[in-house]
Amino acid sequence: MDLEFDQQAEQFRAEVRKFFAEEYPRDLLARAGSGAALTKNDLQRAERALASKGWLCINWPEEAGGPGWDVTRKYIFDQEMQHAGAISPVPMGVIYVGPVIWAFGTEEQKARWLPGIKESTTFWAQGYSEPEAGSDLASLQCRAERDGDDYVVNGTKIWTTLAQHADWIFALVRTSKEERKQQGITFLCAPMDSPGITVHPIITIDGRHRLNRVTFDNVRVPVENRIGEEGEGWKYANFLLGNERTSYAHVAAKRMGMASIEALASSNEQLKDDAAFWDRFNELSIRLDSLDMTMLRVLSSLVDGESPGRESSVLKIMATEIAQNISELRMQVYGYEGLAVLDSDAPNPKAAKAMADYFGGRAQSIYGGANEIQKNIIARRVLGL
Ligand SMILES: Cc1cc2nc3c(=O)[nH]c(=O)nc-3n(C[C@H](O)[C@H](O)[C@H](O)COP(=O)(O)OP(=O)(O)OC[C@H]3O[C@@H](n4cnc5c(N)ncnc54)[C@H](O)[C@@H]3O)c2cc1C
Repeated sequence: MDLEFDQQAEQFRAEVRKFFAEEYPRDLLARAGSGAALTKNDLQRAERALASKGWLCINWPEEAGGPGWDVTRKYIFDQEMQHAGAISPVPMGVIYVGPVIWAFGTEEQKARWLPGIKESTTFWAQGYSEPEAGSDLASLQCRAERDGDDYVVNGTKIWTTLAQHADWIFALVRTSKEERKQQGITFLCAPMDSPGITVHPIITIDGRHRLNRVTFDNVRVPVENRIGEEGEGWKYANFLLGNERTSYAHVAAKRMGMASIEALASSNEQLKDDAAFWDRFNELSIRLDSLDMTMLRVLSSLVDGESPGRESSVLKIMATEIAQNISELRMQVYGYEGLAVLDSDAPNPKAAKAMADYFGGRAQSIYGGANEIQKNIIARRVLGL
């Protein structure tokens, strides 16, 4: 599928491509391509390179500090960033909480928090999940009790990505017990150096530290750090999830993945004439085209600053299943060479990275709300079953 863009859009593409070729830090492209674990410094340098052009928060409304691009420009920018192999912005500030602050925060909160996200001087973590509240997020137990001008927070958040780097955490906390568990949830922001917050690392099977458990022990959070109304946090939480679930598409990177699989398989004696392999490949290519179209359709129907609604569940399932299927196909191409661990001594580093991507991809159908839960949302709220 080829989308044709007008001349202005193509000029914009050339400008973006030039930026990634000439101005974006070369060492970061090399590190991202090697599959090396990225440090906080890498992530912030990557974001600041984009911020220097005003290109970090591309989905924010212009008044909030976004570049004011239409859907075509956002699409082209995303394509070029992925083609270049650049590091995607860390989503917790830029994609998740930033738009919530803009849509529901006070003027004071916007002035306090948005510049740090826009310039990548503050790093945020997402405190939604708890040990007993993942899929059933509304049953969360982390408690916040009002004491004067503060809330006193006690409880545990888990799977908190990159909390070890974070300056701030946005957290869903329970401020009251109501008949409907979606009520009585409040959206609070706390500095990570608040007394009583402790980050406990969770090391994953690949030996890396990205995930954490974060405990709150009598943490005092000023009431002025609450976004929106007390007890109405579920509304803001879902606005955020709409943006989160739509952010997984990464169509251009998926297309590049398919192109490299095609090149490798075409020169592979076992696969080049394997009809079953190419059937799978072609079916996946068609699904990728339909993801691309669905994504564009959803994005073009949104007013600036609006969060996609239930459609985001459809996109989340499509994007993450396709990502997993691509990583499976790639493993088929690499065969036993993929059974290497990702290290600099691996006999075939590309195969080792394919293996790491394969394992990393398993998490995609879990985070952001497991795909089974997205199917429940579609059944109930889209199909009305
Ligand atoms: C890599 C990674 C990063 C993450 N980062 C963050 C983060 O930064 N911040 C954060 O707050 N959370 C984060 N999460 C947590 C993530 O949102 C949860 O893991 C997810 O919501 C699932 O919850 P759970 O792990 O408790 O699984 P469970 O809810 O226990 O589910 C287990 C299984 O049961 C299925 N299941 C559960 N209920 C139903 C049902 N009603 N119908 C059908 N099937 C059902 C699920 O689909 C799943 O397959 C991250 C998770 C991962 C894996």
